[in-house]
Amino acid sequence: MTTESALDTALSQLKQAVSQLGLSENDWQTLSTPRRVLEVAVPLRRDNGNVEMYRGYRVQYSTTRGPSKGGVRFHPDIDMNETVALAMLMTWKCALTNLPYGGAKGGIAVDAGSLSLAENERLTRRYTSEILPIIGPERDIPAPDVGTDERNMAWMMDTYSVNAGFSVPGVVTGKPIVLGGSLGRTSATGDGVAISAREALRVRGINPQGATVAIQGFGKVGYWAAVACEQMGMKVVAVSDVHGGITGFSSIAAVWDHFKANGNINVPGSEKLTNDELLHLKVDVLVPAALADSITEKSAGGIQAKIVVEGANAPTTPGGDAILKENNILVVPDILANAGGVIVSYFEWVQDKQNYFWTADEVKQNLNEILMKSVREVEAMSEAKNVTWREAAMMLGVGRVAEAHKLRGLYP
Ligand code: NAD
Repeated sequence: MTTESALDTALSQLKQAVSQLGLSENDWQTLSTPRRVLEVAVPLRRDNGNVEMYRGYRVQYSTTRGPSKGGVRFHPDIDMNETVALAMLMTWKCALTNLPYGGAKGGIAVDAGSLSLAENERLTRRYTSEILPIIGPERDIPAPDVGTDERNMAWMMDTYSVNAGFSVPGVVTGKPIVLGGSLGRTSATGDGVAISAREALRVRGINPQGATVAIQGFGKVGYWAAVACEQMGMKVVAVSDVHGGITGFSSIAAVWDHFKANGNINVPGSEKLTNDELLHLKVDVLVPAALADSITEKSAGGIQAKIVVEGANAPTTPGGDAILKENNILVVPDILANAGGVIVSYFEWVQDKQNYFWTADEVKQNLNEILMKSVREVEAMSEAKNVTWREAAMMLGVGRVAEAHKLRGLYP
């Protein structure tokens, strides 16, 4: 998985949207340039006393429609190019779903699995203090991503609050409930993936009851997507993680119980698959929910699914996308399919601002409403302009940011 190509993919999708919207060269320059890019050194004292240096990033791609918003990733491959690409995607995603945010992303080039709990906490706190001048509930609001979770968000919130001198829960989302987190945030991205799958099945005239689903990645997105798809009556027939996949298990609950007890997904009685075999299964819906660039020119040709729902960010390269289009596979693009996470993060931020917290049902209902509105807009744009769902979603997201730029004008 190359990191450079995530930026190539993002820029090529933007270029296409700018051209399809008939925007100018000036618009392209404005839209293709990140607003604020920060690289920091993050020193870590290991438990054995050694000091190691890590690279940390925070990119605020756009603040035109509101404070920037985006996750923090701990992964050894992350670099500035990939962070810019992911921050760009967040910008179009927030605009597509009409959230009052720009887009951001951040992270540290580190293998989170190699850190003890105490090392993880020290690294998270030092990273937070390095990016502290540019984050805040009105400026830029981080959230969990690959390799981080609610514990990291609690440490970030605490570090920011200690420096402010009072509690500032709205500085991050994806927090534990007792610190001002929102009910329904943990499952939100997976819930959105399942809603997207259900709607794509409707468009293709396939009954969701019994429709088959294969999911690559069994983390925060993949697991909850599997649970929500099962709850909607779909049949999840294969899942995988970084070590490979399985099929022939009885239920997601059985895989989860085994995973919790043993740290792997190899449930007794299931059949092993490679990640490539999982991508090429004959299923109704394929959900890439791991990292970028899993559907490429090389792997796309063998995909037999009728629908691809992009749980991960940028899982499909432009070459892979062209093959899926040629083979008439309906792709629900990342900026729509995985928007459930940022939508409920927005609810969390609103609840923190108001100090008034919603029930789980209210969260689910509002999530469904916002996501369904975006699905309908994308479907309508795709029909009206005879473009793919990705092109339609990009036209809507990029178009809204371009319009906001025009209305705000250029200072000075
Ligand atoms: P995670 O760290 O919780 O899970 C990642 C999963 O992918 C793990 O099961 C891991 O084993 C697996 N994986 C890693 N490399 C793999 C490979 N080469 N082949 C197969 N599986 C592999 O991360 P997550 O939060 O679930 O994020 C997954 C993707 O979804 C990322 O692209 C992320 O940016 C995107 N995303 C996450 C959220 C969120 O709310 N967490 C929201 C929107 C988008």
